[in-house]
Amino acid sequence: MEKKEYCTAIVLAAGSGKRMGTKVHKQYLLMGGKPVLYYSLRAFEDSKRIDEIILVCGAGEEDYCRKEIVEKYGISKARKIIPGGAERYDSVWNGLKETKEGYVYIHDGARPFVDEEIIERAYECVSEHHACVAGMPSKDTVKIADSGNIVTATPDRSSVWIVQTPQVFDTELIRKAYALLMEKDEISVTDDAMVAEQMLGASVRLFYGSYENIKITTPEDLEIAEVFLKRKS
Ligand code: C5P
Repeated sequence: MEKKEYCTAIVLAAGSGKRMGTKVHKQYLLMGGKPVLYYSLRAFEDSKRIDEIILVCGAGEEDYCRKEIVEKYGISKARKIIPGGAERYDSVWNGLKETKEGYVYIHDGARPFVDEEIIERAYECVSEHHACVAGMPSKDTVKIADSGNIVTATPDRSSVWIVQTPQVFDTELIRKAYALLMEKDEISVTDDAMVAEQMLGASVRLFYGSYENIKITTPEDLEIAEVFLKRKS
């Protein structure tokens, strides 16, 4: 029988959600009557692959998350609730320091539509390739532009993917990459795969997420999410 690796999900919920324009952080806004953050925690809680959840929330919000989300909705795998940092990569690093060996799923708490099929595809990918990222082929043509909005390149659309989370790694590999990143004076990374690519020259493989696996960033995303949610129920 296949040996299952120990899998940890780091769920990130320490962002301030400035682009949402609300006082309440976007991961705590209600969707179908429950906080946005609840849905990804539920998917990892119910997954046969995931052994442990590390929830990274804003400093000072740990008690709120424990009482109002983790205990209220019975997320028993979330035994560690820890404070994040100023940038997403600081929050990831705080989470990675708490991980055990095996595989780690790094996931935005603002992406409520991760599901068991995505979690399973991620497991299959990482067991072969060590560094894997959920994504979908771009439906739109993508242009690269300079600071004056002048187009400098148009990549062939058939090779353009829009990446999502979960991003899934051998825990040892991504911890090493982040340890190197955190030693740098200037950091500009926007996803975890970039850390593995830049710090270790790691090869990263894409696997299919889903077009519904959106990140709730601006108010219209929440409206779209309500539509997806209704279709599921
Ligand atoms: O801001 P952005 O939409 O890129 O955030 C992606 C995810 O990272 C969100 O779930 C957010 O809560 C989390 N994050 C974090 N710590 C930060 C910034 C963002 O955990 N300092």
